[in-house]
Amino acid sequence: MSIIVSKFGGTSLANSKQFLRVKDIVLNDEDRRYIVASAPGKSDSEDTKVTDLLYLSYDLAKHKIAFSDTLEKVFNKYEEIVNGCGLNLDLTKHFEKIKLELEEGKDRDYIASRGEYLNALILSELLGYEFIDAKDLIFFNNNGNFDEKKSYDAIYEMSKKHKKAVIPGFYGSMPNKEVKTFSRGGGDLTGSIISRGVKTSLYENWTDISGFMSADPRIIKNPKKIEVITYKELRELSYAGASVLHEEAILPVTAAGIPIEIKNTFKPEEKGTIIVPDTDKKGPSEITGVSGKKHFSVINIEKIQMNKDKSFHRKLMSVLEVNGIVLEHMPSSIDSLSLIVADKYLTGKMDTIETELKSFCNPDKVAFKSGIALITVVGRGMKNSIGTSAKLFTALAASKINVRMIVQGASEINIIVGVEEKDYERAIESIYDAFMK
Ligand code: ASP
Repeated sequence: MSIIVSKFGGTSLANSKQFLRVKDIVLNDEDRRYIVASAPGKSDSEDTKVTDLLYLSYDLAKHKIAFSDTLEKVFNKYEEIVNGCGLNLDLTKHFEKIKLELEEGKDRDYIASRGEYLNALILSELLGYEFIDAKDLIFFNNNGNFDEKKSYDAIYEMSKKHKKAVIPGFYGSMPNKEVKTFSRGGGDLTGSIISRGVKTSLYENWTDISGFMSADPRIIKNPKKIEVITYKELRELSYAGASVLHEEAILPVTAAGIPIEIKNTFKPEEKGTIIVPDTDKKGPSEITGVSGKKHFSVINIEKIQMNKDKSFHRKLMSVLEVNGIVLEHMPSSIDSLSLIVADKYLTGKMDTIETELKSFCNPDKVAFKSGIALITVVGRGMKNSIGTSAKLFTALAASKINVRMIVQGASEINIIVGVEEKDYERAIESIYDAFMK
């Protein structure tokens, strides 16, 4: 019998109807043995995610503001799931405990983690699978970094003891046993870690869409679905803005070469997107997809004979480092270069950075330009096909879009272009039309 790890996201577990769908899916294939659960997400656009309600309850409690109504909404959701699934499960003592812990000032991560904890508890009851708490499987070290060895060993040991289990996503524990969560959407990461630990043959990630789209559906109507994508392509696309999976979710499975399949809980019969370590199989186009983000700035720096100054780049990087700025890209010429950074790093710091760059690096000119959007065109086929960039820039030129910056990654699977924010949507449309239509 092989092993499939299946992670179900928030919308897949938002209410009892969804829970029953999930039950059908899981029990339909006996290889689906380790199930990772998110907290209940939104049932409809007016609804609120349980994780958000828990964060709100925590904030209210911290400021000594009444939080009972908010917490009640959380509990009602679980009651509906339990009753709608016809389960004989009494969660009262869990609810009372959470309420008390909020009153006593229990920490934020712990409170947020209760969303997945309770959902996994209910799902394990519904499926007749063992419940295994993520705090006993996923560990962080004292610096708050994920402890790979300790976690994978514990997960593997667990898999020897339990043939089937439900595990809450999103959190693990610190050496002092305190709960710590991943960043938002971190249930995907839990699924990936469990997959690696139990040595699965497939990590299924069940969500509310049938896979990864080749472009943002908010910009392109009914974009083509990507059938096969490599880890590297996916990293580029998700980092650049496409969001289906948590950005770091592929890292744990990468080393083990485990494929991830994105599937739709609402349409389980539909083929999803399969994410593979590598493939020779060419996609339907020379590009696999296009994605992007707004809200970047460019810091343009000029200095005659910059190329001969051995310490110039080091000094520049030092200014960025001491100001906590993550550099996105650095296209350069002989006497000038541009630092591309996300706006969020510059808020309230522009003057300091300008002063420090001027005094430390001694440039001839420093200028800031905001309102930049970065677009990433990704494709494993690009490396071996002549004319991809010609086609890309011809499309942008035909749409009268001024390209402000160009970067190509060393792996030659992407081309990044910077455009004005006002041109962003049009640029995506013209690229999509040129390659995908
Ligand atoms: N429930 C968490 C969140 O809303 C984690 C997850 O859904 O993966 O971010």
